[in-house]
Amino acid sequence: MVVGAGVAGLVAAARLAREGYATTLLEKGAAAGGRAGRFERDGFRFDLGPTLLFMPDVFRAAFAACGASFDREVPMTRLAINYRLNFADGRALELSPELPPTLAALDAYAPGAGAALLRYLAGSARAYELSREHFVGKRIRSLWEFLTPRRLGALVGSGAFRSLHATATRAFGAPDLVAALTFQTMYLGMSPFASPELYRLLLFTELGEGIFYPQGGIYALVVALERLARRCGVEIHYNRAVDGVERSGRSVAAVTANGARYPCDVALLTADLPYAYRHILGERHRSANMRLTPSALLLYLALDERYPDLAHHEFLMPRELRQTCRDIFERGTFPDDPAIYLAAPSGSDASCAPPGKEALYVLVPVPNLRGGIDWTSRRPELIARTLERIERRRLPGLRARIRWLEARTPLDFAGTLNLHDGSAFGLAHDLLQIGPLRPDTRHARLKNVYFAGASTRPATGLPLVTLSAMQTVERICEEIPA
Ligand SMILES: Cc1cc2nc3c(=O)[nH]c(=O)nc-3n(C[C@H](O)[C@H](O)[C@H](O)COP(=O)(O)OP(=O)(O)OC[C@H]3O[C@@H](n4cnc5c(N)ncnc54)[C@H](O)[C@@H]3O)c2cc1C
Repeated sequence: MVVGAGVAGLVAAARLAREGYATTLLEKGAAAGGRAGRFERDGFRFDLGPTLLFMPDVFRAAFAACGASFDREVPMTRLAINYRLNFADGRALELSPELPPTLAALDAYAPGAGAALLRYLAGSARAYELSREHFVGKRIRSLWEFLTPRRLGALVGSGAFRSLHATATRAFGAPDLVAALTFQTMYLGMSPFASPELYRLLLFTELGEGIFYPQGGIYALVVALERLARRCGVEIHYNRAVDGVERSGRSVAAVTANGARYPCDVALLTADLPYAYRHILGERHRSANMRLTPSALLLYLALDERYPDLAHHEFLMPRELRQTCRDIFERGTFPDDPAIYLAAPSGSDASCAPPGKEALYVLVPVPNLRGGIDWTSRRPELIARTLERIERRRLPGLRARIRWLEARTPLDFAGTLNLHDGSAFGLAHDLLQIGPLRPDTRHARLKNVYFAGASTRPATGLPLVTLSAMQTVERICEEIPA
């Protein structure tokens, strides 16, 4: 039995069925995807959450483990330009996975910055390799097993105990360049000012491997996973909100949803872990009080006219990223000068909007519900402020081109997706909450209750929840053979 048809739940269900387990998947929503959902109206199509696909080799391995080819099931392209960064002083910088144009762009921006990036990337590649080998690529069984001299060496070597911001400042000096080459930690919901140097691996995944776009958008991955799960024999039920379990000694004998009882030998919960402990298992768990990643204000804008010079991915950098991060991560307020991410996919994929029009996605990192923003009363004002800023900084005449818009706030993350305190990316990834210190993928006492997904090991993000699902299924196969 798998609960939750997000990417982790779909991967886990397909793999369990492939391994010979009779597998049922229960999802509270009307469709698969979870955070990686999709929304369509009037010929405009939006990926609701993730828009950047990294680390395709992880998906290749997951599909291969279920007897399928990821490249055939999810055709995709590597974007020629990763993104354009727009700075507050009007200057811009384009980064791409082809090193020569990236180095040239950096040198044009600040002489010598290209050579500095090459030196910095060597360290980032090392952090990436060490992390894949020691921290996320293999299942972490326990703290004691984790603490081998090799792993401790890898922790030190990957920069787990050094500050990312300090290292990048030594490498690049100018604060705007440092911001441009460290803000990627925000994909993990981390402030670059409070992140370990280890997380420069994120820059390597982008510049070394690239950013990918599946034909039809990120949701094409979800569609392919759902198809794969069904092909492997998974029985999927939508509109089933699991609300409890039936215990039998140190096991769970069934889960309950919509007044029905679903017997199971194994329960694999992929709903957000702190939520699953509290609302499905009915338990207090330390995860309820752990540090959380922030949330996001999301706008989906149906535009009557495209902006032809808008890259697929763009960022409007704040004047001082440090102050913006302070507002989000420390003060819990809507930033005075927010960072804004824009995705305009119709240049890469004409099918996501009617001809000449754009399905513009806007993401503003904001505090989760532990912060002090009253989203019910302030929603209209914060949306208006965001649109005004985008119009002033990058897209003149934006508001006049909007046919309609939809928005999502942290309240929607909590209410619709059951994300703990509306945190968009799950538990935070500071040093005390990663590796063996992140909640385990199995319940401590209930021996047939397992977890996968963003708030358990190894981490958040589509590739990492895919790894999470794969590792948890391998554990189930070892501990409770089919
Ligand atoms: C705005 C945003 C942007 C992001 N951008 C990126 C990106 O560009 N690239 C990237 O790699 N990652 C990105 N991420 C992170 C990525 O989306 C997540 O890490 C990943 O999708 C989490 O998958 P999951 O299966 O662990 O959880 P979820 O997607 O949350 O799936 C859990 C599922 O469980 C269901 N559920 C909850 N409670 C119950 C219940 N009681 N009964 C039954 N079902 C239940 C939910 O409805 C949901 O379908 C982004 C996330 C967000 C929110």
